[in-house]
Amino acid sequence: MKIFCVGRNYADHAGEMKADVPTEPVIFLKPDTALLRRGDDFYYPDFSTDIHYEAEIVYRIGKEGKYIKPSFALQHIDAIGLGIDFTARDLQQQFKAKSLPWELSKAFDRSAGISEMLPVSQYPNLKDIHFELFKNGQKAQAGWSGNMIFDIETLIVFISRYITFKTGDLIYTGTPAGVGPVKVGDHLTGTLNGRSILDVKIK
Ligand code: ZN
Repeated sequence: MKIFCVGRNYADHAGEMKADVPTEPVIFLKPDTALLRRGDDFYYPDFSTDIHYEAEIVYRIGKEGKYIKPSFALQHIDAIGLGIDFTARDLQQQFKAKSLPWELSKAFDRSAGISEMLPVSQYPNLKDIHFELFKNGQKAQAGWSGNMIFDIETLIVFISRYITFKTGDLIYTGTPAGVGPVKVGDHLTGTLNGRSILDVKIK
């Protein structure tokens, strides 16, 4: 199982990071050991002092595919959920400053928080998904899939030109504005189309 992530996929987040809005999707991967399943706690790692949350819509691949055509792209998705792309922002800034790969700041163990995954049959329009993230009960982020720079169809077509999708692969589709730090004791919760599905404690 592979975890694909998309960088800078909302213009307001690219702006807050002082990054350019990309003309092609920015793709990176996390290993399967990054997955932090619902009910598991996030343990603050010792290599960073600036871990940030990034709430993102996550689509799960239910059917293998390579060179997927746009009209078939949505048929490759079997579930949808809400994820947190935990990021060691301090390490990421160091790597970016040296133009080095940023994997260690993004792909570390438990860096991919995931909610329960809901079958797509419950979501007739996969491109009309609203989500919210709350930190200690306060709203921290709110997003809508319609504001993605590259929508899920475009991402599936683009990625599958390079890398074969396998059943169970996940796509984290980028975060809107409002990212910020977590500290030990924080409690993150999230909703997808108003339904409460994500719950992570920082320990
Ligand atoms: Zn992200």
